[in-house]
Parts: sequence; C-alpha cells; structure tokens
Amino acid sequence: MSAPQNPLAASRTASSQQSELAAAPSSASMPDWYTQGLPHIWLPYSQMKTAPAPLAARSTHNARIQLTDGRELVDGVAAWWTACHGYNHPHIRAAIEAQLATMPHVMFGGMVHEPALKLASRLCALLPGDLDRVFFTDSGSVAVEVAMKMAIQYRLNKGEPKRTKMLAFKGGYHGDTLATMSVCDPEEGMHHLYGDVLANHIIAPLPQDEASEAEFFRLLETHAHELTAIITEPLVQGAGGMLFHSPDVLRTLRTAADRYGLLLILDEIFTGFGRTGTMFACEQAEIVPDIITLSKALTGGTMALAATIARPHVFEAFLSDNPEHALMHGPTFMANALACACANASLDLFETEPRLEQVAAINAHLTRELERCRTLPGVKDVRVLGAIGVVELEKIANPDALRQRFIAENVWIRPFRSIVYLTPAFTIPPEDLTALTDAIYRVLSTEN
Ligand SMILES: *Cc1c(COP(=O)(O)O)cnc(C)c1O
Repeated sequence: MSAPQNPLAASRTASSQQSELAAAPSSASMPDWYTQGLPHIWLPYSQMKTAPAPLAARSTHNARIQLTDGRELVDGVAAWWTACHGYNHPHIRAAIEAQLATMPHVMFGGMVHEPALKLASRLCALLPGDLDRVFFTDSGSVAVEVAMKMAIQYRLNKGEPKRTKMLAFKGGYHGDTLATMSVCDPEEGMHHLYGDVLANHIIAPLPQDEASEAEFFRLLETHAHELTAIITEPLVQGAGGMLFHSPDVLRTLRTAADRYGLLLILDEIFTGFGRTGTMFACEQAEIVPDIITLSKALTGGTMALAATIARPHVFEAFLSDNPEHALMHGPTFMANALACACANASLDLFETEPRLEQVAAINAHLTRELERCRTLPGVKDVRVLGAIGVVELEKIANPDALRQRFIAENVWIRPFRSIVYLTPAFTIPPEDLTALTDAIYRVLSTEN
C-alpha cells in the first residue's frame, strides 16, 4: 500500500517521474482527477511528507464507502460522526433537491427565509430549558467563536470590561481557529508553538475527583474577577481522546457557574443529536447551559452548518440604543438555505425513524463485542457511551500504519492519539457493526 516515495509531497515542479509516483499506490487504477489533483491538495492533520496516500472515494451508501478501485469499506467514523442517518438518505436528498430548485442561498443580512426560521424554532423547541435565540454559522469552530464573542460582549455591554476570559478544560477541544485553539487542551491545542498569538484563558482540570475539584475551585476563586464563562464539551471530550465523564461533573459546573456569576457554554458539536444516547448530552445531567453550540450531525452529514443558541438573559444584554452593543458577526454563508433544508430534513428523521432506539441498540452491540478487546496486549481501556465505542491502547506508535491495516480489512477506522474508536451511523446494519468490531479485534490481536 505504501508508495516508494510519498505522492503527497510531489510539488508542482516535480519531475515527471515524481508525478508518476503520485499514483503509485495502485497507479493503473487511479483516475486522472486523482493523479492530477493530488499534488495540489493540502490534507488536514497530516504531515504531508509521510502521510499515506489518501483513498479515492467514489460513492457512499448508508454505512459504506465505495472507492474508485472497486473496494467497499464499512465506515466506522460516519464522516467525523456527522452522517447519523447514514449516507445518501433519500429524505435528506429530496429536501436538498427541492430547496435547490427554489433558492439555494440568499444573504442573511436583512433577509430571512423559511428553512432557517423553521429550523430555529424547531431547534429551540427541541433544546432543553429556555435556549431560544439562534445564531447560524457555517462551521463548528465559528459557532464556538460566536459563543465566545457573545460571552465576552455580554460583559462589555454590562460594563464589566475586565471579565473577558474563559475557563476551559484539559482534554478539551473546541475547534482549530486561533480563538478556539486558545480554549483547547494546551498540549493538543499546540499552545507552546503558538505562544502569544493565542489569547490567554484559564485551563483547569475537569472536576472529577477530590483533587481535580479542589484545583478547579482554586482556579475559579483566583480568576473569577476576570472570567466571563466556563466552556466545556458535555459528557465526552471527543478530539481529546473520547474521554467520558459523568453527568455529575456537569452539575458541578452549572452550580459553580451560578455561584460565581459565570455563563456556562456547552459545546455539543460532537455530542448533539443523539450520539451519547439522548438528543443532547446535557439532558443526562438535567442542566441547561446559557449558550450551546451545535454542528457536526446538524445536517445529517450533508452540508456545512452550525448554530450558537443563547438563553434570553444573554440575548437581552445586547438590546440597547448603543450601536456598539450589537453582536458584530455575520458569515457570508450564514443560514445557507440548502443547509437549513438538510437540517430540517434531519430533524424530520429523528421524529419519524427510531434513532435513539438505534443508538441504544448500537450501545448494547458495541458493549458486547468490544469487551473481548480488553484482554489484548497493549489495551488500556474499553469504553462505550451511546453510539461511541472506544478501545484505548497504551500507545499507538504509528496511527497512519494502523489505519492502513484497517483499510486492508475493508473498514474505515481512523485511530488517533492512543485510541481506536467507532462513531458509526445510527442506521448501520448489525452485520456492518460486527464487521467493524471484528476488524478491531483482529488488527489489535496481531498488533506488534
Ligand atoms: C468538530 C468540533 C468542533 C469544530 O467544528 P468544525 O466544524 O470542525 O470547525 C468544535 N467542537 C467540538 C466539540 C467538535 O467536535
């Protein structure tokens, strides 16, 4: 599978010999668009010098991805856990086609439309408590940035200009833009590399036991005068390594936020829409955040869309005769009509198809079939929550190589840090789910 020389690093000025190598993995079968386009692509999270050549996807169906060379992979990731209804759901396709025929997009500055307003009212009805004011954006990171701007300007508008910092958590992930990097885990968020470019927020341990609780409250006490909000991912720190915590932690955060007069921002971009077993993770703690962010599964894995939703007391701090008190933000593709139509269709499917029951079935299935991995050499932990299955290893020396071994088993599983995880479509057939867990067991059995 590995090329003699890395095809990704081939530059525009590469010799013809190098361009030939661009197709090296299975050169005869790679289409022209692949060999010609690959030297112009910069891939995410990749050391382009050594990354394995990316697969060439041709089509998708439910929990499967067909490649141009004829192979078909069972998908354990669901496109970074967005495709909760499986790929190519006919109801979402019909919605996007209908919207495309009438109005793909209009600017949202001074104009609104049915798909966006319907979606806003449906989201507010679905969310717990009085989260009732929706600001649409086009990516998760931007939704978090908007939440941070709301929390900061909330203080400015109230005449508390010194309270502009966030309290965020070790192991947290809130996006890849500069502002969101500053509230990610300091190591994973590369704070040491970016140094003073990043804003200086307070990073605490999640209050999960006596020691971490003491440290959390110490930091809170010390910094309360300069803090505006606490921000966390509820129940699962996803990109931080699929680290689970109990609903009690969220109740502690809600109580602490109230005691110190802070806003609580819950980033449900990963957890929202059923992934943890309830529609939203915060329901399991029976708490309501002041601001919530949603994206990932919002459109059922079809279009880029995100939302930041605030409670009335947050929104009301922006109502003023002073023009400087308005929220100055407005992405060009904000509330894109096609994306909103997809999101409405996705919400329809949560109403008409048994998604949360499917999540419960996946949970039981993963619990049953991943358990045997626990005794494999190098396995540190096996854990399952909702439709998330995790096998944590002592360490993964080479995640790229491990990914290649999964591909050889005809499954799409993308290990990172020290974990192998599954976040499948909720519609995945049981036999496909077993294909995924079998592949994990087989590959980890022979690892090293
Ligand atoms: C994916 C993710 C983000 C960032 O979303 P993008 O759309 O990739 O910008 C933020 N927060 C959490 C919890 C996420 O899982």
